[in-house]
Amino acid sequence: MPSSPVLTLADLDRWSHAGTALAVLGHPIKHSISPPMHRAALAAMAATDPRFTTWTYVRFDVPPADLPLALDRLHAAGFHGLNLTVPHKVLACATVEKIDPAAHPIGAVNTLRRTPTGWEGFNTDGYGLATAITETLSLNLADRPVILLGAGGAARGAAVECLRRGCRALWIANRTPANLTTLLNLLRPLAGAIPLHGFDPAAPPAALPAGAIVINATSAGLRPEDPLPLDLAGLPTPCGVYDMIYNPPETPLLAAARARGLPAANGLAMLVHQGARALEIWSAAPVPASIMRTAALAALP
Ligand code: NDP
Repeated sequence: MPSSPVLTLADLDRWSHAGTALAVLGHPIKHSISPPMHRAALAAMAATDPRFTTWTYVRFDVPPADLPLALDRLHAAGFHGLNLTVPHKVLACATVEKIDPAAHPIGAVNTLRRTPTGWEGFNTDGYGLATAITETLSLNLADRPVILLGAGGAARGAAVECLRRGCRALWIANRTPANLTTLLNLLRPLAGAIPLHGFDPAAPPAALPAGAIVINATSAGLRPEDPLPLDLAGLPTPCGVYDMIYNPPETPLLAAARARGLPAANGLAMLVHQGARALEIWSAAPVPASIMRTAALAALP
């Protein structure tokens, strides 16, 4: 699969595509593996449905200040769908014409679908996470307590998904207490009868439940020198550990989980399934997630 060049808004002056165009917007964007993932899926879909032979998926480097202009220009250029990655997921909420009600509590959108007059925003990260946990760990968020690490954007999406799916209890740990408090305050109205607690990852409380799904939604583990986001030895035995990080493929948290004999998986399946769901939204057709997974693995450094 040939790699797609990194485009900028200036390239739109010369842009033409006789077919349906999709794109991912980010800043930076050159490390994104969404283009090979989506292009592989579209090639497979085209083999059985000729509609998809003219679909393409490209990438644009768009600085945050240019996002409103980029959304206008991509709409005028006829783009059908967009993925948004760092730093655009929250910013886009102020610019799009409408937001899928399910994405409202998350306050972030990662998938935009063209409307006649603008863009409709969706968030497929929660679906990606829940599907990945079922696929890789054979666990369901609905059946278990969840111990969620982090209070940033990914943690907020994960927490909303855990509550929406009816987890038994949600325990959230974060390094910076103020960010944890902000997230807990946002979630309280959504929790209903589900017990919701915060804790300091440096001092896990004795009341933490056994048999929980541990989800790492911090960026601790991206770099070799990062500390563990939580010492698993201090917990009652969890039933599995899911780390949203996929590069590196084995974080120290995942290594610690495997050393304890716990089922553990990295964030690649989440990336694949959020992408597959986005392509379903744009195409209204079945999407081959397994082909996206193979392409994503091949594209990773
Ligand atoms: P944010 O910057 O919004 O949040 C980062 C979070 O990580 C905060 O809770 C922050 O805590 C915490 N953190 C950062 N460094 C450390 C550290 N050294 N020790 C402990 N905690 C730390 O990032 P996102 O929420 O957007 O992303 C978080 C992770 O999720 C990233 O690794 C990202 O790659 C991954 N991700 C994976 C996806 C997938 O499809 N697999 C999708 C989306 C995200 P504090 O509040 O204290 O600063």
